Amino acid sequence: MAKTKYVYYFGDGDAEGDETMRPLLGGKGANLAQMAKAPLSLPVPSGFTISIDVCQEYYKLGKKYPAGLDAEVAKYLNRLEKSMGKKLGDEKDPLLVSVRSGAAESMPGMMDTILNLGLNDKSVLGLANKTNNPRFAWDAYRRFIQMFGNVAMGVDHDKFEAIIEEVKSHRGIKEDTELKTEELQEIVTKYKAMYKREKGEDFPQDPQKQLWGAIGAVFGSWMNPRAITYRKINNIDERVIKGTAVTVMAMVFGNMGDTSGTGVAFSRDPSTGENHFMAEYLINAQGEDVVAGIRTPQQITKAGSQKWAKENNISEAKRKSEYPSLEESMPEVYKQLVDVYKKLEAHYRDMQDMEFTIQGGKLWMLQTRNGKRTAPAAVKMAVDMVKEGLITKEMAVGRIEPKSLDQLLHPIFDPKAPKKVLTKGLAASPGAGCGRIVFSAEDAGEWKAKGEKVILVRIETSPEDVAGMDAAEGILTQRGGMTSHAAVVARGWGKCCVSGCSDIEIDYKKATLKIGNTVMKQGDWISLNGSTGEVMFGKVPTVEPSLAGDFGQIMKWADEIRQIDVRTNADSPKDAKVARKFGAQGIGLCRTEHMFFDGERIKHIREMILADDVEGREKALKKLLKFQTDDFTGIFEAMNGYPVTIRTLDPPLHEFVPNEPENQAIMAKEMKISVEKVKAKVDSLHEANPMLGHRGCRLGVTYPEITRMQATAIFTAACELTKKGLVVLPEVMIPLVGTVQELRNQKAIVKDVAETLIKKYKVEGKLHYKIGTMIEIPRAAITANQIATEAEFFSFGTNDLTQMTFGYSRDDIASFVPEYLNKKILKNDPFQVLDQEGVGQLVRWGVERGRSVRPDLKVGICGEHGGEPSSVKFCHRLGFDYVSCSPFRVPIARLAAAQAAIEHGSERAENLKLQNHTPIRAKASEIEE
Ligand code: ADP
Ligand code: MG
Ligand code: MG
Repeated sequence: MAKTKYVYYFGDGDAEGDETMRPLLGGKGANLAQMAKAPLSLPVPSGFTISIDVCQEYYKLGKKYPAGLDAEVAKYLNRLEKSMGKKLGDEKDPLLVSVRSGAAESMPGMMDTILNLGLNDKSVLGLANKTNNPRFAWDAYRRFIQMFGNVAMGVDHDKFEAIIEEVKSHRGIKEDTELKTEELQEIVTKYKAMYKREKGEDFPQDPQKQLWGAIGAVFGSWMNPRAITYRKINNIDERVIKGTAVTVMAMVFGNMGDTSGTGVAFSRDPSTGENHFMAEYLINAQGEDVVAGIRTPQQITKAGSQKWAKENNISEAKRKSEYPSLEESMPEVYKQLVDVYKKLEAHYRDMQDMEFTIQGGKLWMLQTRNGKRTAPAAVKMAVDMVKEGLITKEMAVGRIEPKSLDQLLHPIFDPKAPKKVLTKGLAASPGAGCGRIVFSAEDAGEWKAKGEKVILVRIETSPEDVAGMDAAEGILTQRGGMTSHAAVVARGWGKCCVSGCSDIEIDYKKATLKIGNTVMKQGDWISLNGSTGEVMFGKVPTVEPSLAGDFGQIMKWADEIRQIDVRTNADSPKDAKVARKFGAQGIGLCRTEHMFFDGERIKHIREMILADDVEGREKALKKLLKFQTDDFTGIFEAMNGYPVTIRTLDPPLHEFVPNEPENQAIMAKEMKISVEKVKAKVDSLHEANPMLGHRGCRLGVTYPEITRMQATAIFTAACELTKKGLVVLPEVMIPLVGTVQELRNQKAIVKDVAETLIKKYKVEGKLHYKIGTMIEIPRAAITANQIATEAEFFSFGTNDLTQMTFGYSRDDIASFVPEYLNKKILKNDPFQVLDQEGVGQLVRWGVERGRSVRPDLKVGICGEHGGEPSSVKFCHRLGFDYVSCSPFRVPIARLAAAQAAIEHGSERAENLKLQNHTPIRAKASEIEE
């Protein structure tokens, strides 16, 4: 059996690893190796990296190391000692090392690192003697006891801090740097005594024991709660990012005096993206001091330093003497560092986040990685780097996280503003919302009319609340998941919403909202961050986004690259216009029932539902016809030249009926019938399981006059506009079809109306329309080859398809899905991220079978997944013609579609060839300003 290699060396101008070996060596280990060797050949202290394979073995073996590791580590330690000319634990001239964590994807600060390892009661004397700097040696020793004691041995950090504080306050000093050698020695003595009390044994003196203790602690930190939570929040898949590597490397010392220091540097500004060097450093300090914030770090560049001084009201004289920039205090080192960052950025072709240490005036590089950045910074850097010729357009487009665009499309909270977070719910619809608390939709409307900004706080919302939701700046609900009514409606409008916030207590009677110990009343200010789910106290200031500039440039490149169209789900002319601004190439889902809630209309729809017979229904439908025709006219105008998919009535009728006595009374009066009769009718519409009940095409089949009215509205609007010279492309979509017979039945009605009107308006040959269906019932997907004999297009309604394939009611998942995610029974909420293995296979089957009988079958998706990047990529691969999503997610889908084209070009091509399908593209999006 070939011997497995576990350890990889770097140093002395060469390395066994390189940047491509991140999955094995972690980002830190791989990049240290890359920096150490040619062509970069940067000053990196020598060391070795124990691979991530060992981390996996370690957990598999029940926290034991694989056989042979100890020998291999011993061999590499020996090589390191030779390289440095020092030995670990040597009493005269000890080698000190750091033991560092590092996964394949950076998880800043989440795992552990131990510095100054190898010091003990004897070697500290050797170090003091050899460096002729006892203060430094004792400072290093006390740091080591503290870090090792805390990280490897679990002694409470505060117990160490208490000792330092005691010594400092005894002498009346503030800064660690003011501690004298004797005081550091006193601290070491006290640390060791405290350690012994806590652990019941002496602080380990044997460097081998220290080394293996530290290695175990670093591997152990992979599974510490903070790291686990970080992976969960950042969606880091443990099947891909499999563990941490451990890097053991020679120490360099930033705490050796005034010609030493340590710092962190960014090759560009990570919050704005501006192309200027941005870095901070501390003189006479070790790495952890910068992060811990125990002293105010100084700026590296003179310009940065002056800006900082101005912001902090510090005079130029004081700045120069107390907080000089590195550019001023160590110009030689500064020049070197500038040279290094330029080299690194050119090499990695991305913004670098670097750690460095200066020891006695010599620069050492300790880490580099592609830096984290805000969404605006990511966009600016990507565009700048294309202009600089550093990267291609494809790289620029590929580099931006589609979901992060949310941050650019909605107002955001001013990052500089202070905030008090009360609790967190689901980040249901992104954006920043800030207003006064109201507890009912009516109040929301009334307050808004008076010019107030309000946040609507509800246990949950229902379709009757939409007007109030529209009036509110944001919506907060106690119940409901990501696809609850509040969440879906809010996302559609780009309105901020935090849903499923189970920590809040709402008392409608007293009009109070209780969160923890904070009780708020109606009218109190509250702020919601729909991008994070945070609920904040009071009024947090916001800033507005811009769609032009660098963002527009990235979008233009994305459009050039992508191969599928992006449409929007929009129900009103207003939404349609917003979506055009975001670049939508048509409407993929227009939910006609959403038009029924506005103002007077709800009365007419109620009249229609409450009517006893066809005549009564037709009378009410006639009144609705006018409204629907106007709506479609507005939508077709906004979408001139782009296709518009209109779905016929879908929800169960009971969603429209008046449930409250006062509304029942109004209807009774309106229709000149008794309240009892109204109530009886409402009760008769009650269904045990409405989502599986009388809805979708089942309504159209039982009440054909409804379909007929809707078709009449659609084609009247279409014919009139066509006559005026507009290009109208209606696509009538029949919902909830499970059998081809249902579709045939409804199609006949629509077709009859369409042909009659086209003749009447004399627009034959000018108005082109399609009739198709939603594929949202598993049976429809399975029998797609039958359905496609009637359907000219399929639109996958993946909300219902997911609901029916999993058998999860999407309005009720809040009670178990969070637990499923915790226990890893589900990887994602399937209503947010399309389940490619299950539901996705029905989709694949549907597309393939559908096109097997009708190769030119147009295929799209209109579920919530249409704007979710991984789902968009899936649709791209299967050969979809378009995806459709809520207006504010259109740019996200455009970018995801472009990334799909870059990543999966050939898979799509193969599928299209098998399906004998040529993609049907709408005209390119010309964004109207
Ligand atoms: P993290 O991943 O939390 O940043 P690191 O392993 O990068 O942890 O180390 C923490 C700090 O210690 C950093 O500032 C780093 O630069 C510093 N450091 C790590 N190894 C050494 C070393 N060999 N010599 C000097 N400083 C070091
Ligand atoms: Mg680091
Ligand atoms: Mg549906």
